[in-house]
Amino acid sequence: MMYYMRCSRCGDTWTSPVSFGTCMECDFSLVQITAKEADTLTQESVVKQVLAERKRQDQLFGSQWHRTRAEWLSILMEEVGEAAQASNDGDTKHFAEEMVQVAALAIAILEGHNRGRA
Ligand SMILES: [Zn+2]
Repeated sequence: MMYYMRCSRCGDTWTSPVSFGTCMECDFSLVQITAKEADTLTQESVVKQVLAERKRQDQLFGSQWHRTRAEWLSILMEEVGEAAQASNDGDTKHFAEEMVQVAALAIAILEGHNRGRA
């Protein structure tokens, strides 16, 4: 049996073999939540990360709406390759960072598509 836990300070969610403990990030006490609450919180946390990355990309690279579909796909495949490399290296933190970049890039491509580009 695994328990779903949420940090009472930072809101990070964890699974744990026991229904008590402290957050691995900020050392505050964990409170037990339901599996459904854990699913929702995890999804919201991922979407927030992706949107933050999407804004970072705009600040870093500026307007990219001139890019063609082929250029976008080439950039996306490069990011997927970096995620695969991190996975092969067993670097789970870097893998997660690369996957956030992949998701943010896919959103940028769809934004371009919906604006009648790409
Ligand atoms: Zn915490």
